[in-house]
Amino acid sequence: MVRERKFYDLLDVPADASEADLKKAYRKKALRLHPDKGGDPDMFKEVTHAYEVLSDPEKRSIYDARGEAGLSEAGGMGGMDPQDLFSQLFGGGGGFGGGGGGSGFFGGGGGRSQGPRKTKDLVHRVHVTLEDLYKGKTTKLALTRNVLCSKCHGKGGKEGAVKQCNNCSGRGVKVTLRQMGPMIQQIQSPCDDCSGTGEIINAKDRCNHCKGKKVLPDKKLLEVHIDKGMKGGQTIQFAGESDQAPGAQTGDVIIVIEEKQHDRFKRQDTDLFTDIEVDLLTALGGGQLSIKHLDDRALLINLVPGEVIRHDDIKVIHGQGMPSQRHHEPGSMYVKFRVIFPDHIEPAAIPMLENALPPRKPLDKFPKNVLMEEVDLDEVDPRSRAHAMQDDPMDGEPEGEPRVQCANQ
Ligand SMILES: [Zn+2]
Ligand SMILES: [Zn+2]
Repeated sequence: MVRERKFYDLLDVPADASEADLKKAYRKKALRLHPDKGGDPDMFKEVTHAYEVLSDPEKRSIYDARGEAGLSEAGGMGGMDPQDLFSQLFGGGGGFGGGGGGSGFFGGGGGRSQGPRKTKDLVHRVHVTLEDLYKGKTTKLALTRNVLCSKCHGKGGKEGAVKQCNNCSGRGVKVTLRQMGPMIQQIQSPCDDCSGTGEIINAKDRCNHCKGKKVLPDKKLLEVHIDKGMKGGQTIQFAGESDQAPGAQTGDVIIVIEEKQHDRFKRQDTDLFTDIEVDLLTALGGGQLSIKHLDDRALLINLVPGEVIRHDDIKVIHGQGMPSQRHHEPGSMYVKFRVIFPDHIEPAAIPMLENALPPRKPLDKFPKNVLMEEVDLDEVDPRSRAHAMQDDPMDGEPEGEPRVQCANQ
């Protein structure tokens, strides 16, 4: 019988949880609550403390018998930095890496201590039409980034004017240790004296061009070459064109290509897919069709009289797809035909159809006991469920748009 449930509740486990259950529960909670992941530090601390107690059989028995108060009476509890316990249990340096800690100049990757610092890459998405990906295009992109001040060369002031901040010994952060019960918590915050820069510049020696900021915003025009055949998701990199910062390697500008949807063509690698409407007479008797291509051409298709195009037939035009990226070798264009039937035919013309077309399929024969009952064929209400049966996902018509023509037949 346990006296208090608080520590069990913090870990969301029953009071009879096994050691494995506790570890699993703590891991799940701690990962979510870890301050490096934006979790609440106090909550993280509490959960860690609960686990610290319950995972120790001796402490757990004291807690079960006498509650939290019993624990402090028992005394002699080491108290552990939750950060340390966490890394001890789950390996790694305690942190999660990445996350862009620091001054905002520096993101991603290594943080402050390892290797040369690099400023954050600037990622920019450009939405490109299929036409431009077909033909290739050069587009200009204006971006504003920070560059080192040309007057002080990123020093912020006259030679020797920049002094290390005494308050934080140039680290830019101050660390406070706080004792919370048995736990010691480390709190890091930006240094007030130097606003986290680690440096103090005398007002009179400060560079008047950048006001001691060392960097200034600068406009830059980048020429982005979108090569024929590029695809969505591909990137174009401009090395060292991101923000500059003193003492840091400059990050890259990365352009990400996003392919805009086309209203007539769908693309799959180097193949294009399109629907084309053909009237019944052309489908049966031949004629000409045209397809506007993605450049300034239209493709002319001759349908030979005597060859029949059926509804939903798919044909291919070789060499008219998208160019491949490396050698600009074109893929294929697949054409799906939609045969448009007339709304009405003059009864007087029907004998000519009977003359031209194969004969009518004779009526099915049924056993004598099947009763033939004559029925009427009515139009379907466009809003009805049955109407949705006609929606073919291949024809790319916008959803929810009723096809009025069916109702007017
Ligand atoms: Zn400072
Ligand atoms: Zn300056």
